Amino acid sequence: MKVLIADDEYVTRLMLDAALREHGCEPIEAVDGRSAWDMIIREEPQIVISDWVMPEITGLDLCQRVRDQAGHYVYFILLTNRAPTRSNREMALRAGVDDFLTKPINPEELAMRLGVARRLIGFADRAGRIDQALPSCRRCRRVANADGEWCAMEVVVPEGEPVAFTYTDCPECAAERARVRTRSSAAPF
Ligand SMILES: [Zn+2]
Repeated sequence: MKVLIADDEYVTRLMLDAALREHGCEPIEAVDGRSAWDMIIREEPQIVISDWVMPEITGLDLCQRVRDQAGHYVYFILLTNRAPTRSNREMALRAGVDDFLTKPINPEELAMRLGVARRLIGFADRAGRIDQALPSCRRCRRVANADGEWCAMEVVVPEGEPVAFTYTDCPECAAERARVRTRSSAAPF
């Protein structure tokens, strides 16, 4: 799971980087809000852990931008220097923040939030897959994966996963059909 750490403090980035690797995540880092936004677009991290107070774009503005403009689901955790007040919390939730972490970061608190994030990302993934119908060949029954390669259905679709299909001809079957058509139209009667 790719996780973007957005914080201008080196020590926080270092600590989070190590903790995330321990949890099997792939951390990437940004030192201010603007480069964080660029990385969100380019790298599509599934989780963003962002400081509230940062140069260029604040954590809240970054979150708002993610909700308004990012093309994929992001679990957004906001870092604060002390427990957020009720009004700050409300403001952050309105901007689309999913959860909060207080510095210095407690590894157990981080682990708990990663667990919640994983669960929600799983839901969002499945929902997204139902929204996106997979092309399926009506002749050979193969299904195109995300890279456009045609594979057996059980390779592309995990068992028990709900999925929608659009029916079409895969390139091989389309070519075969074209060959048959040419042959039959050339055949003398
Ligand atoms: Zn086919």
